Amino acid sequence: MIQEVVYLGLGSNLGNKIENCLRALKEVSGRQNHIQAVSSLYKTEPVGFREQDWFINCVAEVITYLSPRALLQFLQEIEELVGRRKTFRWGPRVIDLDILLYGTEVIKEVDLIIPHPYLHKRAFVLVPLAELAPEFVHPILKKTIRELLEGVEGEEGVELYAPPPDIGEFL
Ligand code: ATP
Ligand code: CA
Ligand code: CA
Repeated sequence: MIQEVVYLGLGSNLGNKIENCLRALKEVSGRQNHIQAVSSLYKTEPVGFREQDWFINCVAEVITYLSPRALLQFLQEIEELVGRRKTFRWGPRVIDLDILLYGTEVIKEVDLIIPHPYLHKRAFVLVPLAELAPEFVHPILKKTIRELLEGVEGEEGVELYAPPPDIGEFL
């Protein structure tokens, strides 16, 4: 039986951003995925495509019983359910759910890359991830999340917005 610790990155910059993230976490939580911890919520500047509203970002630590591919498909269904409509990469979205880490697994397929390929370049991912797993070693770069955060640019675009949601809400 599969049982793995995964870190999920959540982001929203359309509609009620906090509600969208909380709703997505509720949908993730269930028999197949147990939410162990959620980071603080951060207000972050858009990167990539900059002409859009600011984001709420957070990271969740989840015990999953799903394979990486089944988890990706499940997260895509939740994005749809919460109201994400296809626009363009890095464009505005109601919810974005990325698999950042799946234990220490390394996967390089066209539509599934783990660890997430931009994880180490994004302060809006590393800041909340470092709250939950500062000593976790990136399975390719062999550096801890804390070390990756020390080397990243753009931390000034990541502002603490709200404390971690009560995970009791998701049980
Ligand atoms: P980015 O991946 O740079 O954060 P994005 O989140 O805006 O960009 P999406 O439009 O949400 O990109 O997803 C594009 C594709 O990325 C998805 O269809 C999915 O197949 C693929 N993908 C590859 N690796 C992952 C991963 N680790 N987690 C989520 N999606 C992934
Ligand atoms: Ca993303
Ligand atoms: Ca995504």
